[in-house]
Amino acid sequence: MDAKPGAELRLRTQAVQMPMGHDAPRNGLVGSIHLSTTYTRDESYAYASDHVYGRADNPTLRQTEASVAAMERAWSAMLFGSGMSAAIAVIMALDRPSHVIATASMYYGLKRWLAGIGRFGHTIAFVDTTDLTALAASIDARPPDLVWIETPSNPLWRITDIAAVARLAHAVGAVVCVDSTVATPVFTRPIDYGADLVMHSATKYLNGHSDVSAGVLAAARPSDLWSRIAEARADQGTGLGAFDAWLLARGLRTLAIRVKAQAASAATLARRLVAHPAVAEVLYPGLPDHPDHAVALRQMTGGFGGMLSIRLANADAALAVAGRVRLWRCATSLGGVESLIEHRASMEGAGPFCPDDLLRLSVGIEDPDDLWADLDSALHGLGAVDAPDDPIRVSPTERGVAP
Ligand SMILES: *Cc1c(COP(=O)(O)O)cnc(C)c1O
Repeated sequence: MDAKPGAELRLRTQAVQMPMGHDAPRNGLVGSIHLSTTYTRDESYAYASDHVYGRADNPTLRQTEASVAAMERAWSAMLFGSGMSAAIAVIMALDRPSHVIATASMYYGLKRWLAGIGRFGHTIAFVDTTDLTALAASIDARPPDLVWIETPSNPLWRITDIAAVARLAHAVGAVVCVDSTVATPVFTRPIDYGADLVMHSATKYLNGHSDVSAGVLAAARPSDLWSRIAEARADQGTGLGAFDAWLLARGLRTLAIRVKAQAASAATLARRLVAHPAVAEVLYPGLPDHPDHAVALRQMTGGFGGMLSIRLANADAALAVAGRVRLWRCATSLGGVESLIEHRASMEGAGPFCPDDLLRLSVGIEDPDDLWADLDSALHGLGAVDAPDDPIRVSPTERGVAP
C-alpha cells in the first residue's frame, strides 16, 4: 500500500495543515465547501473525477476523512452524522448471527443500544475489559466476532489495555473496535496497539466546539466488513454533510493544542480535588492510585485526557455542587472548549458503573485557576467525607457486582 499524503507528518502538523485541503483554481489558503450533489459528464460522457453523486461521498467530506485517517495512522476513515451512527454502522454490517463482547463500563447511549441487538439476530455479553481474566473467560465461553472497547471509559475513566485485548480477540479471529472518543489520536492511536477499527464521537474533542454532531470510523486495513460499512453508508446517505465536515475540519486544526491544554488542566484539578475534604474519590487515569494508571502510562502518550469524575458524600451533595457552579456549565456532552459538569446518574440512572454520588467534569480550555476557584466555592460548606464504601479502585468483579 502506498503511503497516504501527509502520513509521514507528526500529528500536530497533520491537524493544522491537512483538514482544509486546497482551493485549487484560486489557491485559497482555506479550502472551500463543496455542496454539489451531482457532477456533470463531458461530451464523451465521461466524468472529470470519481465523484458522481452526493449521497455516497463529497470532496469536503473526503478531505476531512483523509485528515482523520492520517491522524489515526489508519488505512481509511469514514465520517457519519453522529458517533452513534458510526458505531451502529459497524454492528449492522456484521454477519448474522454474530456474538459481540462489549466493555461493561462505556458510554451509556451505546450500551443501551447494544443491549438490544438481539432483535437483529446477534448476541451480546458485557464484560469488564479492564479485567483480562474476566475477558478471557468470556471469550472461552463463547468466542466473539467483535470485541468493542471504550478507553478511557465513560464516566469512570477506566483504561482497557488495547494490545492485550487485541491479542485475546485476534486469537479467536474477532475484530477489535475501540471507541477512542476521550483519548483522541493525540493521546492514543488504537491501531498502533492492534485495533482493527477506531470509532469516535467527533461531536466531542475532534470538533471541540460543541457545534457539530459527527462520528468517525477508521480502519487499520481493507476488509469485507469495512466494504460493507462503506456500501451501507453510500446507500443510506448517512455520511456527514459537507457543511459539518468543513466545520469539523476547522475544529481539527486546533485539536492537538486544545486537548493538551485540557489534559494539563484536568491533571491540575484532579490533584487539587484529591486534597479536598468534601471529595470522597477522584477518578482520573493520570493519578498514581487510579486502578489503571500503569496501563494508562503505557498506552497514553502526552497526557491522560481532559475528563475526570469526582464522588461526593451522596447524590444530594453531588446535585448541590452542580447547582452551585457558575463558570462550569451544567450540560451533557464533553470535549468542547468550555467546561461542563454533569450528574450522570440523572441521565443514565445509577448503577455499578455510574454511582449516584458522581459528577462528571469535562475540562475546557479556560484558565484552570478560575475553574478551580469556581469548583472550590461550590464545594464549600460540604462536610468532610471518607472514601466511599465501593471505591472504583476495586473492580466490580471483586466487589461481587456482575459487570
Ligand atoms: C458522545 C459519545 C458517543 C456518542 O456519540 P454521538 O456523537 O453523541 O452520537 C459515543 N461514545 C462516547 C465515548 C461518547 O462520549
